[in-house]
Amino acid sequence: MPVLMLFFDGWGLGANDPASNPFLTVPMPTLRELLDGSPPVRGEYREFKHATLVPTDATLGVPGLPQSATGQTTIFTGVNAARAIGEHLGPYPNAALRKILAHDNIFQRLSAANCRVAFANAYPPIFFERLARNSARRSATSYAAFAAGVRYRDIDDLRAGRAVSGFVTNERWIAFGADVPLITARQAGQNLARLAREYDFTLFEYFLTDAAGHRAKPDFTAFVLAEVDQLLAGVLDESDLAQSSIVLTSDHGNLEDTSAKGHTLNPVPTLLIGAGRASLAPRIHSLADITPTIVSHLTAK
Ligand SMILES: [Zn+2]
Repeated sequence: MPVLMLFFDGWGLGANDPASNPFLTVPMPTLRELLDGSPPVRGEYREFKHATLVPTDATLGVPGLPQSATGQTTIFTGVNAARAIGEHLGPYPNAALRKILAHDNIFQRLSAANCRVAFANAYPPIFFERLARNSARRSATSYAAFAAGVRYRDIDDLRAGRAVSGFVTNERWIAFGADVPLITARQAGQNLARLAREYDFTLFEYFLTDAAGHRAKPDFTAFVLAEVDQLLAGVLDESDLAQSSIVLTSDHGNLEDTSAKGHTLNPVPTLLIGAGRASLAPRIHSLADITPTIVSHLTAK
């Protein structure tokens, strides 16, 4: 029962207030349909016809605003990384967090159980040049893949539709002169779901949600949320949800509250779609539950 994990940076569940929460004002028809028409806001655990929404704690019992490096390390290892280092830290992991990530992360645990794993993001040539010079900055997510020996996908994978850019449509790559096709966010989602059929666990990381929260420009926020919704639509187009599961989650709130500049204390949405949701959803309460839940789901006999 394969799992496709969609990781969105900086997406929390905010107030039911259109003045501060762009998830209520930017049309997101795919997301709304998954929620049977209800708004993606703070509230209880909710079951819908095709999805389960689990409000998920990102504060991890540590004072201060949740940050990306500790949040992502927690998501991809099951270790409460904020508690382990005594603070929320971001955006990039420090040595202590890299050490946690290098030990028993989700890719490593699944590979050890003979599951096929993939990291679906495509990286541009400049990233590989920086890697060779040892000057590339890696998010906790991409560090988890690296530590597990999971291949970074490149421009050839992107051209072949066997990877998705963090910028989704490839427009940004083309602007920098790369010879890749311009695609729609929906096509990118379709490519992602087709790739995920070949693996037991596939991860895609999207960071523009957090970037839009920091930038706080309504036009960019609207662009990002529409792109997220179309990406999700494409994933649903090509997923066999009777035979697979989609796990959408985030590391901390940000974009859901335009009245706060920066991160929030809000819970994040873990949205479970497809066949495994009845067994996956009840086990998730905080970011630390995601890896253990997925690993036991995929390795249960
Ligand atoms: Zn941020």
